Amino acid sequence: MSSDAIRVTKRTNKKERPKDKDLAFGTVFTDHMFVADFQEEKGWYDPRVEPYAPLSLDPATAVLHYGQSLFEGLKAFRGKDGTIRLFRPQKHVERFNRTAARMTIPQVDPDLILRSWTTLVDVDRAWVPAAVGTSLYIRPTIIASEPFLGVRPAKEYIYYVILSPVGPYYPEGLAPTKIKVIDNYVRAVAGGLGEAKTSANYAASLYAAEEAKHEGFTQVLWLDGVHHKYVEEVGTSNIMLQIGDEVITPPLAGTILAGVTRDTALTLMREWGLRVSERAITIDEVIAAAHKGTLKEVWATGTAAVISPVGELAYKGERLVVNGGRIGALSQKLYDTIVGIQYGTLPDTHGWTLTV
Ligand SMILES: *Cc1c(COP(=O)(O)O)cnc(C)c1O
Repeated sequence: MSSDAIRVTKRTNKKERPKDKDLAFGTVFTDHMFVADFQEEKGWYDPRVEPYAPLSLDPATAVLHYGQSLFEGLKAFRGKDGTIRLFRPQKHVERFNRTAARMTIPQVDPDLILRSWTTLVDVDRAWVPAAVGTSLYIRPTIIASEPFLGVRPAKEYIYYVILSPVGPYYPEGLAPTKIKVIDNYVRAVAGGLGEAKTSANYAASLYAAEEAKHEGFTQVLWLDGVHHKYVEEVGTSNIMLQIGDEVITPPLAGTILAGVTRDTALTLMREWGLRVSERAITIDEVIAAAHKGTLKEVWATGTAAVISPVGELAYKGERLVVNGGRIGALSQKLYDTIVGIQYGTLPDTHGWTLTV
């Protein structure tokens, strides 16, 4: 179905668009959505752009009961010159189908996935905001849509894409976060769903995150599910730490989501000649480094916030301030470089952007 044309039906009564300065994260959606359907005997069929509207689902729909689903998250940016760029869409296409395989969801033609994003963004291109720090968030989703309560992979699916003009993910912007290291809840275990971008991981994470927020923290730092000792992810972002002259991030060993921003940051730092290690690191090593004064910077990476510096880590009642609670030089350089490429103010020497 790679060659299938995407049918476009435009809405006539356009919604009102918010001003760039009023944009929050994920509250407003554009005029159109992309939809394709899957049935066992037909494969994926009828790819189309249509007016944004609620889905009508039978109460027995499989996804509502057993969570068989996947999602992605990437952004389109409007440069100063008006050019609209997607950032590393190919990487997101690959991860989309990796998650699909893990969730026993049928693969989607990579060319169709990419065209679903570029076509929809093109139809709603007036919705790509222009102010620095704003972008158009692209949320592709697949749900098991078969009405059936037995437990097995569904035979029907809906793939849809919605768009949301967004401002900064954290209202405080690049302000460093306060993170609680938790050892009584876990996010993922090896062999589970940790490396799949699927709703179940998020459902599993909410309780601990809420508890931490009530205690005044921004997010939690997850430790591994077996030893409760190895650093894994922070909230729903990847984590990086600079200890002495080494930058460390946990390896992709089954429990961690392979972030595109993680890969971007690692690629840049290696090019800058930094010593970068993808290796297991215990929370004890982090605490010891903080006590010795060698823990220089800690930051999270993800599409939503790009780089989010960590200003404080709390573990077993002890509070460790990182870099005086300020954003560090390396976090800032990564942020400026990635954002510069995304908005076209720095040259894209890696072929990371795709113009729409
Ligand atoms: C999406 C996600 C990330 C970040 O991935 P990016 O591709 O950088 O946006 C990290 N961890 C989890 C659990 C995620 O779902």
